[in-house]
Order: sequence, then structure tokens, then C-alpha cells
Amino acid sequence: YNERESLFIILNFAAQYFKGLLHEHEEGKSIGLSYFKERGFSNNTIEEFDLGYSLNEWDGFLKAAKKAGHSEELLEKAGLIIKKEDKTYDRFRNRVIFPIHSVAGKPIAFGARILINDKKQPKYINSPETEVYHKSDVLYGIAQAKQHIRTLENCYLVEGYTDVISLHQSGVKNVVASSGTSLTTNQIRLISRYSENITVLFDGDAAGIKASLRGIDLILEGGLNVKVVLFPDGEDPDSYSRKMGDEEFSSYLKNNATDFIRFKSDLLLEETKKDPIKKAETIQDIVRSIAKIPNPVKRAIYIKECSNILEIDEALLITEQNKILLREK
Ligand code: ATP
Ligand code: MN
Ligand code: MN
Ligand code: MN
Repeated sequence: YNERESLFIILNFAAQYFKGLLHEHEEGKSIGLSYFKERGFSNNTIEEFDLGYSLNEWDGFLKAAKKAGHSEELLEKAGLIIKKEDKTYDRFRNRVIFPIHSVAGKPIAFGARILINDKKQPKYINSPETEVYHKSDVLYGIAQAKQHIRTLENCYLVEGYTDVISLHQSGVKNVVASSGTSLTTNQIRLISRYSENITVLFDGDAAGIKASLRGIDLILEGGLNVKVVLFPDGEDPDSYSRKMGDEEFSSYLKNNATDFIRFKSDLLLEETKKDPIKKAETIQDIVRSIAKIPNPVKRAIYIKECSNILEIDEALLITEQNKILLREK
């Protein structure tokens, strides 16, 4: 085997090991499996996403992997163990495990969640970059979602692992997450293999709104169409879908999917209603987003839409847009 192949074998061994602990080990069952059950994950869902558990030990995985013949050197290159001067130990300990799969469905990395929220430790620990895991190229859930994205001609984009899993379980299967990073150009390109429509479902907090605005511009630059669904403050797609129930949640998505222009106008104008200078800035901001769209026909349609929503002369918006386009050449 070459090194890449060996890493895939090790990562697969690790995924099986964590999965085995969740289903067969006393600690895994009583702590890990009950954690997932409490979050409302069904057996099917747990199986479909290959979820697992890592023991509350320093080197449980390391020992098992060495026993199975894997070298410390490759285990480290796979991001599974950490080597410090005098000690070597498991990266993932006492956490529930979310394997991250390649498009083809092979485990290439792991996300691991702490069991009880605790300010002293990070909530999630993720694999580092490795030879087979470049996180800016990867979307969590793509293997499970790709066919659904193609058939439904839309991709829901969420922030977290548990958002992907909950939506999938509630019947919304065309969903992926940009987990652990802010959205990248390569992730958008990956989605575009399956559909040119993206609906952004970020968390209903300030961070989520900020990330949506950034995501919108990147998606437009990639030449794709983008809509946004906002959630009430403090809710994310996972929490809200469980609060509402499947039917109601899916209608919520349908009824609240807003075109990016309306989303940006509502959001920005809310803050700047009575201030003409700020309103002018808002319009600039929206025109800048439109100018990112590569296709001139789409740009023209959006300019018209913008002119209607904001009650601004279309010709003026076109002039503004042309200034931006010229500046960027
Ligand atoms: P949960 O519902 O389990 O609390 P979440 O997905 O809602 O998790 P968020 O805080 O909304 O968690 O974060 C969104 C995503 O960002 C996570 O799923 C994870 O991929 C990543 N993330 C969050 N916290 C961290 C962290 N401390 N280190 C690395 N990645 C993180
Ligand atoms: Mn959040
Ligand atoms: Mn959550
Ligand atoms: Mn969240």
C-alpha cells in the first residue's frame, strides 16, 4: 500500500473501533448511546452516520490499533494520536464521535463532542489536516446527501454535525454542513456538482447571521443561486426541527426560504430605517453582492428585484453596479 491507502485503512479501522464501543462496550452504551438517544437520534440514524464513542482513557485506541498492527507513525499521520516528547495518547477521549466521510463514503476524519457542556474544554475536537483530509474541501454529510441534492435540485447548508443528522432524520436529506470552518469556495464547487441552488440555514444568533451574509457572497461568486432561512434567536436547525416536528419543520423551511436580496434588505434596513445615509450604504452593500454574480442576465434580474424592494430607480442601481464592476477589473 502507498501512504494514502494505509491512512484510509487506519481511518476505517478507527471508525469501526469507535462504532463498536458505542454499541458493545458498557461505557459506550451507558454514556455514548444514551447521549445520542437523549438527542433523539434513532438507531437507523446512528447507523447511517456511523456514529461512535471514545473511551475515557488516555490510550485505549492506541493500544487497540497497535494490537491490530498499525504503526504509531501512521496513526499520528491519520490525526488519531498525539505524540508529545515523552507520551503518546489518543486525540479523541471521552467523547461521542462523528465520522466525516469523503464523497464516496469513506471515513477521512472525525469530529468529537464532549458529553456535558463545560467551559474548560472545547465542545468539539476535530481531526487536524492530514494527507487525506483537507477540511476546506470537505462537506459533512455529502456522502449521505448527494443523491438527494441532485434529485431535489437544492442543497440545504447548515453549520453543524447535529443539524445535518437531525434534518436527515426528519426527512430533509439534501443537507450538508461546512463543519469546523467557515464556508469555502471549494465547498461551494463541490455542491455545484449536484445542484446550483443552495439554501443557507445558519443558527439564529449573531454569529449565524454574520456567517450567512459571508456565505451568500461566496455562493453568488460561485455562480450559484442562494436563499436563506432564518431561525429564531437561540435556535439552530437541529433544535428547531425537534421542537416543531417533521411536517411543521418542512413547511417552515418552504415558507421561510427568502431570496438573498430580500434577506439582506430586510436585515440591513431593519437597522437603518430612518437614517438616509445608512440606507444608502445598505443599497451599496446589496449592489456589491449582486455585482459578484458572474452571469450578466441574472445580475439584471436581481437589479430589477432590488429596485422593486428598495424603491430605488433601476437605472441608478445599474450605474452603481457598473462602477463596482469597473473597479474590480
Ligand atoms: P450541539 O448541538 O452539539 O451543541 P452545534 O453543531 O449546534 O452542536 P455550534 O456551536 O452551533 O454547535 O457549532 C457549529 C459547528 O461548529 C459544530 O457542529 C462543529 O463542527 C463546529 N464547532 C463548534 N465548536 C467548536 C470547537 N470548539 N472547536 C471546533 N469546532 C467547533
Ligand atoms: Mn452556533
Ligand atoms: Mn446545536
Ligand atoms: Mn448550532
